[in-house]
Amino acid sequence: MSVGRSRRQFVKSMVGAATLSSIPNLSLAAQSSPVPLGIPEFRPAPLGSILPLGWLKLQLEIQARGLTGHLDEFWPDLDKNSGWLGGTGESWERGPYYLDGLVPLAFLLKDPRLIEKANRWIERTIANQQSNGQFGPRRNDDWWPRMVMLKALSQYHEATRDDRVIQLMDRYFAYQLKELSWRPLREWGKYRWQDEVLSIAWLQDRVGERRWLPLASLLQKQGYDWATQFKEFRYTQKMDRASLGFTPTDPLPDRAMQTHGVNNAMALKAGPVWSLFSSNPTDGLGLQIQLNALDQFHGLPNGMFSGDEHVAGLNPSQGIELCAVVEAMFSLEQSSAILGQAWIGDRLEKIAFNALPAALTDDMWAHQYDQQPNQISCSLRERPWTSNGPESNLFGLEPNFGCCCANLHQGWPKFASSLWMRDLEGGAVAGLYAPSEFRFNAGAGTAVVLVENTDYPFSEDIVITVQTQQPVQFPLSFRIPEWAANNSIQINGESTPTAISGSYATVRRQWKTGDRIEIHLPMRIRVRTGYRNSLSVEWGPLVFALNLKERWVKLRQRGLTADWQVLTDSPWNFAIEKDSLRLITSASSSAMPASSLFSKSGNPVSVGVRARKLEAWKEMDSVAGELPQSPVTSTEPGERLTLIPYGAAKLRITSFPELQPE
Ligand SMILES: [Zn+2]
Repeated sequence: MSVGRSRRQFVKSMVGAATLSSIPNLSLAAQSSPVPLGIPEFRPAPLGSILPLGWLKLQLEIQARGLTGHLDEFWPDLDKNSGWLGGTGESWERGPYYLDGLVPLAFLLKDPRLIEKANRWIERTIANQQSNGQFGPRRNDDWWPRMVMLKALSQYHEATRDDRVIQLMDRYFAYQLKELSWRPLREWGKYRWQDEVLSIAWLQDRVGERRWLPLASLLQKQGYDWATQFKEFRYTQKMDRASLGFTPTDPLPDRAMQTHGVNNAMALKAGPVWSLFSSNPTDGLGLQIQLNALDQFHGLPNGMFSGDEHVAGLNPSQGIELCAVVEAMFSLEQSSAILGQAWIGDRLEKIAFNALPAALTDDMWAHQYDQQPNQISCSLRERPWTSNGPESNLFGLEPNFGCCCANLHQGWPKFASSLWMRDLEGGAVAGLYAPSEFRFNAGAGTAVVLVENTDYPFSEDIVITVQTQQPVQFPLSFRIPEWAANNSIQINGESTPTAISGSYATVRRQWKTGDRIEIHLPMRIRVRTGYRNSLSVEWGPLVFALNLKERWVKLRQRGLTADWQVLTDSPWNFAIEKDSLRLITSASSSAMPASSLFSKSGNPVSVGVRARKLEAWKEMDSVAGELPQSPVTSTEPGERLTLIPYGAAKLRITSFPELQPE
């Protein structure tokens, strides 16, 4: 048994010492290709090979009972008049966005009702491909919505092995290669080219040929140069309508596209995805360079950057759009596999366990367009957004604009199907943690099932048990988060050497049925310093926020759902004592909890803190006004406050002024 050894070292040694064909799962065609294939560190597990268990299964079932399972029954943009179903209705991104989340949800839950719903769209899309290779609504030839539908189709193929998808993509790529010379990428497609290049990489991986390299190159060439934007980052301030260059009549100016929150979230994967074709590993660094720039000038304490709907600076009263949250997650899921770096999983979990549940009601029937880390009311009021309207932080069907209503569905399902990856030796990689079951074939086709039991991120302990047809050798790798110092991994009760936090620990040995792996990832309360020296509180991958008493006021019924304002009479203007933070845990949840762990009633952990009110910190323009520069002093009486997980607190303070230590 050996522990450690970096993936990159291993891949390098394999490539140097052996022919590529001796690496399982790597296409033979890569050897003879004129341009060497960029080798991903890991490969995503195909949809269907991971099944959710425990709290994660419950979360997906809540989603299926909520908006995702019923949206097409009452939202006109998804009804049978959709252009994607052959009608004359919405013919752009909303159908594909919905499918991109509905397909993985349906197959993760093996839910016949949802599979039937998804099939309707997929069948229509496949059956109506034109003889020239074009597919999708005839009345809209925009490249962008097709980029989204390709992602939904590739997931459908993973779950069903329906090779009509391969044929459709192959014919479409041939058509597009001819068309792009006179009808180049424009508007959204120009800024989101990497999402299609990802589908090209997916297809080439399936068919074992590099035939679509010219198309990938053309998309990259016509697409926006994100790498240069972040090497020479100019957008270091909050944007507004004037600095964006808005006019009442013209389409969005380039500046607005380049500072658009969702475009930026999608672009996080541009460098890693392009590195698969350029074979230049430095392209993969684009992710880190982009995140560093966004964090420095626009970072928020929920793991995201501000974008409401353009980059908005560091103030935690600014918002971030739900589309940007789910797209950042998808970008990080893909980048995590391509680059094989543990920090990417840390960041992904921070967004998934905080920013994602925060923007959705506990029953997943309503969502926000923009969420704020410091969010003291959700009401129909103008707020100091860069460009969004007065509905943006309501919880509802389609507050502000309907894109998030169509796009939110991919968040939890793609997270679930990204928990495990494969390595190039045929082993398994735990890239994210949540209760699940992973089925794959290890060496010589031996079927293996790994069952992961845990309440993570509400628990420090993860237990994985192995089932195999017969004893079989393969590597098992585990992501050790940066924050998990003094972690331990035990195999059948025996300790392995301590793994370095912020890396993958790999155990190579012969595995047999009944082997038991216990991973302990110690979580400590951590304090992060942010805007104007304010403090935000973390424990493991969770962020904590002040628990304000919420009053939900229905604004109007919207078909099967409703739009809501959320108001509070609770005081929120507190400064906290850094040294007084204490963790409070209630009894650990059962294997199948009764309610979402990201709800106020379901969450099993909270944090106590001593605080004093800060009278000078007041509401302004319906948001928490400018944060006082920390440290601060207050003569108000000391109080004991409770902080709860960020995702459960729909009204909250996340960034607190720090009380000057006495
Ligand atoms: Zn959106």
